Amino acid sequence: MRQRLFAWTFFIGFTVTLAGCGTVAGVTGMGWATASHNSIAYDDSSWCVPRKLKKVLNRVADRYGKVTVHSTKRWWLENWWKGGARKSYHLNCKAVDFSVRADPSSVIAYLKAQPEVGGYKHYSSGHYHIDTGPRRTW
Ligand SMILES: [Zn+2]
Repeated sequence: MRQRLFAWTFFIGFTVTLAGCGTVAGVTGMGWATASHNSIAYDDSSWCVPRKLKKVLNRVADRYGKVTVHSTKRWWLENWWKGGARKSYHLNCKAVDFSVRADPSSVIAYLKAQPEVGGYKHYSSGHYHIDTGPRRTW
């Protein structure tokens, strides 16, 4: 376990170095330094998850089980390509898209009850979006 954690830390450090944005992690509130729950799988750069949202993900994993994070950081070109909102919170590492096997209305109600969550949305694809912006949905 300790060895795995070490490897993980090394991996994250390496990713940050590669991306050349150690400062981005600083701006996002040290999200990368917050320990992740064992039942959270990342399909995208975990260093880009703000600490506040990581806490929420940990709570969701505690309550509903395995959480898969699909999207954190989106580069402006990718955002444009995918037709994302121009002021997408993903551009600033302030949003997370994830999925979890649970009743959507229950998950949405739970997300709504989390003070750290600003915007939230359940997409028809089954993904949930949460960000640290003002409280809203669409
Ligand atoms: Zn999103």
